[in-house]
Amino acid sequence: MGRFLKKEGHKDFLGRLKEHAELIAPVTRDLTRFEVIKDINDINLKGKNPFFPIKKYFLPNQENLLHIRKGLTKAVKEHSDKRIIFGARLCDINALSVLDKLFLNSDYPDQSYKQRRENTIIVGVNCITPPSEYCFCGSMDLKKESYDLLLHENENDYYIDVLTKKGEELVKYLPEEESDFPLPRTDKKLEEKNLELYFDNQYWENDSNLCVSCQRCTTLCPSCFCFDVHDSVNSATKNGERIRTIDSCHSKDFTQVAGGHVFRDTRLKRYRHRVLHKIQFFKEKFGRSMCTGCGRCIEYCHSKIDFVKTINENFT
Ligand code: SF4
Ligand code: SF4
Repeated sequence: MGRFLKKEGHKDFLGRLKEHAELIAPVTRDLTRFEVIKDINDINLKGKNPFFPIKKYFLPNQENLLHIRKGLTKAVKEHSDKRIIFGARLCDINALSVLDKLFLNSDYPDQSYKQRRENTIIVGVNCITPPSEYCFCGSMDLKKESYDLLLHENENDYYIDVLTKKGEELVKYLPEEESDFPLPRTDKKLEEKNLELYFDNQYWENDSNLCVSCQRCTTLCPSCFCFDVHDSVNSATKNGERIRTIDSCHSKDFTQVAGGHVFRDTRLKRYRHRVLHKIQFFKEKFGRSMCTGCGRCIEYCHSKIDFVKTINENFT
């Protein structure tokens, strides 16, 4: 079931969101980014997909997982601040489903991630037209999931798809109606190929020869989650912190093990692993692609490496 919001009522709707909790939404300054909103007139939904995806609100670049006091671990303060993220698109929202599989759906859910997810309401927007020529989400089997509300713009109103009780609380003042809406379509497509036949081939090598290991692709990807954990402890006082930092499979020491051996010791191995993990390996294990087709890793790649083009044009 959903609700209808008249276009002239959208500022009232945004004002209500802002009163309910800290509101985070896309703002265009030098770049379009998600920011905490002070003035709802700053929100820009018509621009590009924000440069940084919403994963930073669930997996910060660096965070303390535990305090260490006199050699013993002590819990950190709960992440209980209430937030609403408004204006995320389905590619970033579906990427949360990927992160949920890793951080929530296990016998040992990640507490920091879980607290942030539980205290954040996602009010997404459906793309009418793709925000970039690099988007290929139309090939990635996106689903209507992992949001609380999703706005789909019609000519005179917005249809609001309601998925959760938290979302329902925010829109129950609006008229209720059942409707449907199409998922985004994109001109750019990732064609289905038998990737197993192409593990060893010159095309991965050609692409990886252009890669400079800058790690922009993994930083900007909404579903990349690799991290490192280390203890930073004063040896005299035995006080310190257990710290998680975001890492990247494009880094040479990412697969370094005791004794110094590096399993993916060449850029070819690292580049190929990143692409195949996104579109093949994760799917084999979890039944869905890790890549959601947002196109950021192609658009903002230092060398404009386009794995979609490589696969479409060279693999059968
Ligand atoms: S792999 Fe690239 S296109 Fe796919 S979700 Fe990540 S950044 Fe977006
Ligand atoms: S953004 Fe491009 S150049 Fe940089 S690590 Fe990724 S593939 Fe390599």
